Amino acid sequence: MKCYYHHQADAVALCKSCNRAVCPECAADVHPGTACKGRCESDVADLNTIIERSKTAYTKTGQAYRRSGVFTLIIGLLFVALGLLPLLVNENGGALFMAPIGAVFLLSSFFSFRSGKQITEVK
Ligand SMILES: [Zn+2]
Ligand SMILES: [Zn+2]
Repeated sequence: MKCYYHHQADAVALCKSCNRAVCPECAADVHPGTACKGRCESDVADLNTIIERSKTAYTKTGQAYRRSGVFTLIIGLLFVALGLLPLLVNENGGALFMAPIGAVFLLSSFFSFRSGKQITEVK
């Protein structure tokens, strides 16, 4: 493959932005990737920024889901404990209605954890 700009020179890389083959003289190293020198450098830099940002966005969303998962897990356990503890202490069972509420929280906690896991695995 020959350089897009110099048809006699061998290409060493492809520009990340326009996909043209470039020789060492035309290649600008924009880590990670190569750009046409003085032509696509800023485009590739922008591209890298976007890719980098979307990566951290995924991680952050995953973390947010996991954090809300932990939060609802604690609330859920609290409600279940509040609902069931009086049963153990005395038998009036007045707070038993709290146990299903706790179960709902535990369920939503489970889904938060699962969504967080899926999002993190996407990247
Ligand atoms: Zn280019
Ligand atoms: Zn060239």
